[in-house]
Amino acid sequence: MSDASTKAAFLGLGAIGRPMAEHLARKMDLAVWNRTRARAEEFAARHGARVAATPREAGAGAAVVLTCLPTSTEVELLLDGPDGLEAGLAPGALLLDCTSGDPPTSRRIAARLAGRGVAFADCPVSGGTSGAEAGTLTVMVGADAATFARARPVLEAFSLRIEHMGPVGAGDAMKAVNNMLLAAHILAFGEGFAALVKAGVPARKALDVLNASSGRSFVSEGLAGDRVLSGRWPKTFRLALLEKDVRIALGLLDETGVSAPVLHLVGELFRHARAVLGEEADHVEAIRLIEREAGVQIRG
Ligand code: NDP
Repeated sequence: MSDASTKAAFLGLGAIGRPMAEHLARKMDLAVWNRTRARAEEFAARHGARVAATPREAGAGAAVVLTCLPTSTEVELLLDGPDGLEAGLAPGALLLDCTSGDPPTSRRIAARLAGRGVAFADCPVSGGTSGAEAGTLTVMVGADAATFARARPVLEAFSLRIEHMGPVGAGDAMKAVNNMLLAAHILAFGEGFAALVKAGVPARKALDVLNASSGRSFVSEGLAGDRVLSGRWPKTFRLALLEKDVRIALGLLDETGVSAPVLHLVGELFRHARAVLGEEADHVEAIRLIEREAGVQIRG
C-alpha cells in the first residue's frame, strides 16, 4: 500500500500533522490540504507534494486519506458540502483520522462513510512532535480487522508501534485516557515540586531522585527537565488540545459509569488553566499557574 504509486492525501499540517505528512511524502504520491493554504504551499514546495485547493480535490483519486485536525468536530465538518472531503472520496477509499478524536463522532463519521463504501479508522497518535519527526509514534487504532490490515502499512511511515484497540472509537478512547493521565501527572508534578522547592530542596536534585524512585512518570522523565526546570516552556502541544482530551476521557468515564472523583478534578483544573492561559499556551504551562499560586519557581 505505502509505495510511491499509491495516491494519498493529508489534511491538517499542524504541529504534529506536518512531520507525519513529511514521512508520507517520502513514500507516497501525496496531495496536501491545509485551512491556511500558505502552509500547504510551503510544505509542497519543500517535500515534493501537490497542493489541493479544497478537501474534495485532496480526496479525489486518493486510495488513502489522512486527517489530523484539532477535534473530531472539525473532521466531521470537513466532509460537508460540494467542496468537502466526502464529495471527493471514491468507493473503496480509506480515511485514517489521526486527530485525537472522540468516540461518538468517530462512530458517526464511520457510519456515514460506510454508506459510500469508504472505510474509516480512528488512528490517534502518541509521542509528540519529536516522535512525529523521528517517525517513532505509537498509533492506537479503532477499526474492523480488515480496515486495520489496510491501515497498518500506511501508518508504518511515521510509527514504531501500531495497535488495534478494538472497533471504531476504541483508538480515541485509549488516547483520551492516556492524555487524561498525562494531564494528571503534569498537575501532580507541579504541586509536589512547588512544595519541595518551598521546603528548600533543590529542584534538580529532587528530579534526579524522583527519576530513580517509584513516583516517576513521563512528565518527570521526559518533560520536566527540558521544559520546567530549564524555564524554556517550548510550545509543541497546545494546552487547549489536552483540555479537550481530558473532556473526551470524562465523557467516557461518565458513559461507563465510573465516578472518577480524581479525574473530574483534573478536568476542572485544566478548564481553569485553559481559560487563564489561553489557546496558544503549551500543555506543560499548567505548571506555571501552580507556580504563580504558590509564589515559587521550579528551576534548577
Ligand atoms: P495544531 O493546532 O498545531 O494544528 C491544527 C491543524 O488543524 C492545522 O493544520 C489547522 O489549520 C487545522 N485546523 C484548525 N481548525 C480547522 C478547521 N476548522 N478546519 C480545518 N482545519 C482546521 O494542532 P496539532 O497538530 O498539535 O494537533 C492535531 C491533533 O493531533 C489534535 O487532535 C491533537 O490533540 C493531536 N495530537 C497533537 C500532539 C502534539 O504534540 N502537538 C501529540 C499527539 C496528538 P491552520 O494551519 O489553518 O491553523
